[in-house]
Amino acid sequence: MSSIYRILCVSHDPALDYGEYNTPEEAETAIREGDSSHRQCDLLIGRYSYPLIEVGCPPNTGPQRSGRHRCFTHSLTEWVDVVWLRLLAAAHQADTEQMRALAGERRLAHWSPERLRRLRDELGIDLPEPTDQPGELP
Ligand SMILES: [Zn+2]
Ligand SMILES: [Zn+2]
Repeated sequence: MSSIYRILCVSHDPALDYGEYNTPEEAETAIREGDSSHRQCDLLIGRYSYPLIEVGCPPNTGPQRSGRHRCFTHSLTEWVDVVWLRLLAAAHQADTEQMRALAGERRLAHWSPERLRRLRDELGIDLPEPTDQPGELP
């Protein structure tokens, strides 16, 4: 099963994707070298076998970018299946003490509620708008 890799910019809401790479290394290199229009953005990598099947948080040991989400330092891309991201988004929504504790696990630090919210179209999930946004008219 062949996959392609695209860069997901989650500094935009909702996230937008760009580029097309044959290997994750090519996408990592593109992020490290920086695309002029996303130089300070918070970027992820999507692995597609259409549809999207995995999302990776790229190494954050390269040049600093102001918009990057702060997870712990890692020199390899941290991949996760989109099914787990959907479950994690649901856990954030449930907002019970137990779910907060589970979702606060350090190894999940890449997948903040805000990153997941901006990925909602890619993940195919419905998440409520932030409370300062006007609701849809009936
Ligand atoms: Zn961007
Ligand atoms: Zn990360």
